[in-house]
Amino acid sequence: MTISAKTRVAGVVGHPVRHSLSPLLHNAWLQAAGLDGVYIAFGPSLDGFRALIEGCRGGAICGLNITLPFKEQALGLAQAGRDFVHPRASLAGAANLVVFRTDGSLELDNTDGEGLLYAFARQAPSLDLKSGPVVILGAGGAARGAAAALVLAGVPQVRILNRTFDRALAIADALGDKVLAYGQDQIGAVFDGAVAVINATSLGLNGGEGPGLDWQAVPSTCAFMDMVYKPLDTQFLQAARARGHLTIDGLDMLVGQAIPSFEALFGHAPPQAIDVRALALAALAAEEKAKS
Ligand code: NAP
Repeated sequence: MTISAKTRVAGVVGHPVRHSLSPLLHNAWLQAAGLDGVYIAFGPSLDGFRALIEGCRGGAICGLNITLPFKEQALGLAQAGRDFVHPRASLAGAANLVVFRTDGSLELDNTDGEGLLYAFARQAPSLDLKSGPVVILGAGGAARGAAAALVLAGVPQVRILNRTFDRALAIADALGDKVLAYGQDQIGAVFDGAVAVINATSLGLNGGEGPGLDWQAVPSTCAFMDMVYKPLDTQFLQAARARGHLTIDGLDMLVGQAIPSFEALFGHAPPQAIDVRALALAALAAEEKAKS
């Protein structure tokens, strides 16, 4: 790849950002598509995020994906009357993508929900998410984004179960009457008739135990999705599969949010000829090997 004065620059911003797989995915697509662009990682200090975004107004770079812990803060940077916030980002209460328009305005979006739906479409194509309630375990930023995307996709009811009930309630209050909050004492009732359960807690990350649940209360046809993809096959997914449930891993959610991000940043659909999931799997395996 030759970097020239015409090279289009985009990237991801996070803290920490070193382990992000986004540069791998986007640069592979850029190369396969023969586009003159580059995608790099930015890791400002925790209080340096605002300065980075404000400094890029005007199009010094074309845009950034935004990852932890800046997604909520990003939405707060939007100036009324100047910047454009996509309705799905407002609903999610967070942005994972900012495009710097040449007139100095920001376009903030959230493609995480699209990523979630992509993962279901890829790994559970016969599951109709509109056919019944979906349970989300957890009430952090990822849970809110998922709940917003599911409501927009026509899921009839989204149930949020969280250790801290008030956080689940805050999401339900923000997203309207299709979203209900459940506390740990309602762990049986929450699964009644559910078509899917999504782990959006941080439990299970790095091989730890996943969220505990009453497996007897879960319908046998219910599918299980885990947003955690390090490791790919979490204890939560293993437990679900051992009980005969269909499972969906979190890696396709990452790939699925990157597809519309790439289109917004580089103005082209990612080439389908390249299997970025396989590349990401190889990178994850190398990371695991380096740890051991
Ligand atoms: P977050 O805002 O920190 O929220 C964490 C959630 O986990 C909260 O609901 C928290 O409950 C719950 N939790 C943490 N420890 C717990 C414990 N010991 N017992 C019960 N609940 C516990 O994190 P987030 O940004 O929403 O991310 C959640 C997960 O999704 C992370 O693992 C993240 O890596 C993953 N994720 C994946 C993708 C993807 O593309 N696959 C995208 C986004 C996020 P409390 O409210 O009670 O503290």
